[in-house]
Amino acid sequence: MKHEIDFIIKVLFILLLSLISILIIFTKPNITLRGNEVMEVNYNTEFKDPGYIATFIVSNVTKKVKVKGFVDTTKLGVYKIDYNLSINGFKNSKSRIVKVVDKKKPVIELIGNGNTCPGKSYVEEGYKAIDEIDGDLTSLIKVNVLDEKVVYSVTDKSGNSSIATRKLNIIDDIKPTITLNGSNYITIYTGGTYNELGANVTDNCDDQVALKIDGNVDTSKVGKYNITYTATDKSGNTESIIRTINVVDRLKDGIGKNIYLTFDDGPGPLTQQFLAILDKYGVKATFFVTNQFPNYQYLIGEEAKRGHAIAVHTYTHSYDVVYKSVDSYVDDFNRMNEIIKQQTGSYSNMFRYPGGSSNTVHCSRNPGVTRDIADTMLKLGYQYFDWNLSSGDASGYATRDSVYKAVANGAGASENTVILMHDIKSSTLSALPSIIENLQSRGFTFKTLDKNSFAPHHSFGICR
Ligand code: ZN
Repeated sequence: MKHEIDFIIKVLFILLLSLISILIIFTKPNITLRGNEVMEVNYNTEFKDPGYIATFIVSNVTKKVKVKGFVDTTKLGVYKIDYNLSINGFKNSKSRIVKVVDKKKPVIELIGNGNTCPGKSYVEEGYKAIDEIDGDLTSLIKVNVLDEKVVYSVTDKSGNSSIATRKLNIIDDIKPTITLNGSNYITIYTGGTYNELGANVTDNCDDQVALKIDGNVDTSKVGKYNITYTATDKSGNTESIIRTINVVDRLKDGIGKNIYLTFDDGPGPLTQQFLAILDKYGVKATFFVTNQFPNYQYLIGEEAKRGHAIAVHTYTHSYDVVYKSVDSYVDDFNRMNEIIKQQTGSYSNMFRYPGGSSNTVHCSRNPGVTRDIADTMLKLGYQYFDWNLSSGDASGYATRDSVYKAVANGAGASENTVILMHDIKSSTLSALPSIIENLQSRGFTFKTLDKNSFAPHHSFGICR
């Protein structure tokens, strides 16, 4: 009997244990993840947690889940998110692994059209490879040159590969380039000698291309003569250019043509003497003035009173100041124009860049600012003037003779000649009388610049 009771107690005990176990299992909170426990997400895309559901016995306790961890999709790597639930001391947790992966291929960009000279091997025109994560992979590109194509391949650090193919075209449709030795427009006085200086020919495909020169010059007769230079490459592409020889009578070649004498950088200590020479010959000029010599400001009024034109060449003439920014240029310009207004009673609507619009000294201050200055100033109603003939007087080697020759030989190449000189240079001061006598004897008309007159513009200086 005692035996049986023991047995029943044992069975009841086991039953009780089982019941407790079942209760514990049922009372443990439950978390179910939506989506996979291990996920992949692409680099730089948004990661959205697919979510989860939590229950405790029969109630929904999703809101009690605490989520720990984050996924930074801007960095490749493996991230872990923990979902923890704790209710009345009963705990459960789940976790999810998120891998941020790179599945994007690098992008190969080919430059050029694949044209290949007949009978020659392909000359690479250039390529680039950019990967969203690894950046510039250009140096890793493998190049395989075949008969009719070039194959480029590259693989990024995550193993994504790209291939690009360039089709080769065996063709030469590019003309030779002819470069004249000497100017394309030469003026010779009657009785002079024309020396043929020839030209150089280069070609994209052919090492040697013959040059044909046609035409002749009769220097005993006034007139314009054309010399034609022709070059044809092996594929039949022909280029031809012309040089014009203008044979003129020395004493009359300036008739119908205009001269604009322009003086920069003053007024200064020599300006009074410049004005006296101009008065003596009855010639009017254009002064691009600065405030580099403040004691001579009054001469701006004097220049205007004597019939010369006044234009702005900046207040400071400092590259650091005027080429710092468009605003800085405009401020400096306005300061000078105020002085002009004080001295002459009116503002000027003309200006000249220090160094000319083609200068590259601005590059070390603010590359390309010269073009932006033009955009702004032209919109504001101002006009700028470069020159199409330099006297060379800004050079340290300039002499009375070099300045005279530069002007006398260069004047009259076109209908309007705008001559760059400086009224702070003694070489120019001493050359000026003979310059004016030469130009007057040849029949030129002297004019002053105004906003609507002929305005030579150089190409803007390119910064490299
Ligand atoms: Zn200057």
